[in-house]
Amino acid sequence: MDNTTLINEATHERFLQLACDQLGYNTAVYELLLTPSREIRLQIPLTKDDGSIVIFNAYRVQHHNARGPYKGGLRYHATVDIEDVRTLACLMSLKTALLELPLGGAKGGINCNVDSLSASELERLTRRFVEKIHRNIGPTQDIPAPDVGTNEQIMAWIQDQYTKIYGYNPAVVTGKPLVTGGSRGRREATGLGVSMVIQAYAKRYSIDLRNCTVAIQGFGNVGRYAAFYLDAAGAKIIAVSDSQGGIINHDGLDIKSVIHHKDKVGTVVGVDNADITDNASVLALTCDFLIPAALGNAITANNVNAISAKCVVEGANSPVSWTANDILTQRGVQIIPDILASAGGVTVSYFEWVQNLQFVNWPLQQVRDGLREKLDQACEQVFSVADEKKVVFRNAAYQIASERLKEALFAAGI
Ligand code: GLU
Repeated sequence: MDNTTLINEATHERFLQLACDQLGYNTAVYELLLTPSREIRLQIPLTKDDGSIVIFNAYRVQHHNARGPYKGGLRYHATVDIEDVRTLACLMSLKTALLELPLGGAKGGINCNVDSLSASELERLTRRFVEKIHRNIGPTQDIPAPDVGTNEQIMAWIQDQYTKIYGYNPAVVTGKPLVTGGSRGRREATGLGVSMVIQAYAKRYSIDLRNCTVAIQGFGNVGRYAAFYLDAAGAKIIAVSDSQGGIINHDGLDIKSVIHHKDKVGTVVGVDNADITDNASVLALTCDFLIPAALGNAITANNVNAISAKCVVEGANSPVSWTANDILTQRGVQIIPDILASAGGVTVSYFEWVQNLQFVNWPLQQVRDGLREKLDQACEQVFSVADEKKVVFRNAAYQIASERLKEALFAAGI
């Protein structure tokens, strides 16, 4: 995975710049929309189980809070660095604006390899992180959530550490376990959201999902639920992959078995009734929908010519580089952008925060209905602006979100 491409190509900056140009905004407005309000860099020493000391670099970038408190995930991964986190924080501001959630945007992360840490090391690292950052997070300040490499357990440790200082306040973090105040339906929300957005697209452009094939890169929290719900909606999932390889069956994979296999052995590779293939081949499959649902920069200049999907749906944040986006667009491949396709997670995070602030629990159906309503509305807006202005979905989404963010910033006063 070449994670430097994103930075070298300045993919997100160029998407934003393009939207600002199309909206007639000057450079100052573009810079205002791009530049984060605050960047926090921390060094976290950890005493490992064997007594050795390791220092980890951690970040939290708070992009904008003009529309509501800073909001966004916390990523534990070896690729985490300040540039990456800065980009992802801005994407969160655009995501919350596009979905009309009263939240801003932020992102954080710790540069670490989760697999090389024991559970107790992970817990100590997380608690030390909160010890250092607690003044800058909180229910009306900045609300972290899971992202790549983090999960409900890590959110519970953050919540508990915060509680030790400020008293019980579950709204400090979302994506928590149900038993400590999490929301029903949060765990599957991003993947379910991907499937809802594809359904909205199919409805709008009169595509019958029952005749569609899908390939998914990544079988973590996003990919597995996207597969599950698209399968339930009648689409045929022909291939999925994870970091250890891919599997393929042109007649359609049995998704429940794949999920079961992944939970049991840690990879999708080796499940019955599927041929083994590699990650690159899954991306290159001829299919109706290709869903990159792992890390950024899955599709770059290096592999874009191999892509033969009709529509790329960005389940991950920033999976398509600037050059790849350009080439795919010229070839007529539709791209449903990350700030729409992967917005299901933060939408249900918003519902979780609202429930926490009111000390209530919504039934699952309320969460699901609310998610569909929000995503349908955002899809309708993006598809309409794209059709009216004759721009691609990403430009439409960036324009809508940039306009909302700009209005809030100017209303608040600079
Ligand atoms: N990490 C997710 C995202 O990138 C969810 C963020 C949240 O729930 O705040 O959208």
